[in-house]
Amino acid sequence: MKGFRLVAVTTHLNYSLNNLTHTIMQSTTVDKSTAKKEDTNFKLFNQLQSYEHEQIVICSEPSVGLKAIIAIHNTTLGPALGGTRMWPYNNEEEAIRDVLRLSRGMTYKAAISGLNLGGGKAVIIGDPRADKTEELFRAFGRFVDSLGGRYITAEDVGIDVQDMEWVNSETKYVTGIPKSLGGSGDPSPVTAYGVYMGIKACCKKAYDNDSVNGRKIAVQGAGHVSSYLCKLLAEEGAELFISDIYEDKVEELANEVNATVVDPDDIYGLDVDIFSPCALGGIVNDDTLDHFNCDIIAGGANNVLDEEDKHGQMLMDRGIIYAPDYVINAGGLINVASELEGYNPDRAHQKASKIYDTILDILEYSEENDTPTFVSSNILAEQRINNVGRIHRIYSSKSEFSGHIGEMYRGKQ
Ligand code: NAD
Repeated sequence: MKGFRLVAVTTHLNYSLNNLTHTIMQSTTVDKSTAKKEDTNFKLFNQLQSYEHEQIVICSEPSVGLKAIIAIHNTTLGPALGGTRMWPYNNEEEAIRDVLRLSRGMTYKAAISGLNLGGGKAVIIGDPRADKTEELFRAFGRFVDSLGGRYITAEDVGIDVQDMEWVNSETKYVTGIPKSLGGSGDPSPVTAYGVYMGIKACCKKAYDNDSVNGRKIAVQGAGHVSSYLCKLLAEEGAELFISDIYEDKVEELANEVNATVVDPDDIYGLDVDIFSPCALGGIVNDDTLDHFNCDIIAGGANNVLDEEDKHGQMLMDRGIIYAPDYVINAGGLINVASELEGYNPDRAHQKASKIYDTILDILEYSEENDTPTFVSSNILAEQRINNVGRIHRIYSSKSEFSGHIGEMYRGKQ
């Protein structure tokens, strides 16, 4: 480990009886003699405190060019699980903002999905096409390992299975590894199955009948998630319209599922029952919103609403049911989380099928409380975190003494 540098900034969250207010005990390995006097405007701490992050770990190993940041948002429900993103960020602040935003999203995703996991994420600053080496990922793996399971990593944008195999050489706290190594492989089939169940839940709410038989569905994207999803929808008798920016891709899928190919720009205005975004984020925006001619928007893509508050409310005002993206596409997370228990595809599918009930609960809550669906899912996720947080105040045989007392206690065993 010689030459490794670790700067850790930690805040511990102690849940009060009624809410997520917390006391902050900060510790840092930065040399205190050189630290400046407290600067209350220090941006990093403002960022951490504003979204109640627990910890951020800056990982540096110049000999292999590693610059990585691990953010742990909340571990009330369990260890923080979330992928590692490799991206050529323009500056450090951009990378920190991204990892804080993404890790927080994982807390909500795990909580609403009923998983005993917290939220975390990592970013590696670098170009995934030029900067990948075995040594870089193994160095990153050692930092992940140093957190002793508080953070469990997986693949995200710019990372592939090979990279995770290298990480796995240095730590067991990694998921999304190949099936041959006991992992779960490609998460897309489970993601698609969860999206399919979520679409059925929306149909139940809109039409009091959860079958997609005879429903007209516009699917944006002909990639991994979309391909598996379209097969499930077609099997049940849906009439599909598909678009992709790659003609060969969309033609191939359309032939397979007997769908109509649509120009990428024309997909928004189709007169359909359901619009299923399975390509990009930000597709519900000021330009597209008026064009939607559907009852339901429900798909696998991340960050579907360009501006959550504004466009979530506008969809509600237009009477369009919106299935929150991080709820309906949680099958991928459910899949990698299953690796922690020894991967079993049937169990992963069975867990993903619960997305049906979760989406229905959110839609009911929204109707009763007159709130946009993404607001409802955030509230329900926070309720679960708060409720479990309260229970964790109770000492049990699973509780651990820590520090000096812990050593003494363990010595008596
Ligand atoms: P993918 O790259 O396999 O497929 C995306 C497809 O969208 C590609 O075929 C691409 O050509 C197409 N596309 C891009 N721009 C388009 C446009 N303007 N119009 C139409 N098509 C366009 O990706 P994927 O793994 O299928 O993921 C799709 C979405 O689902 C992404 O937003 C991803 O973040 C999200 N997601 C995926 C998973 C998973 O398990 N793969 C899990 C959770 C969320």
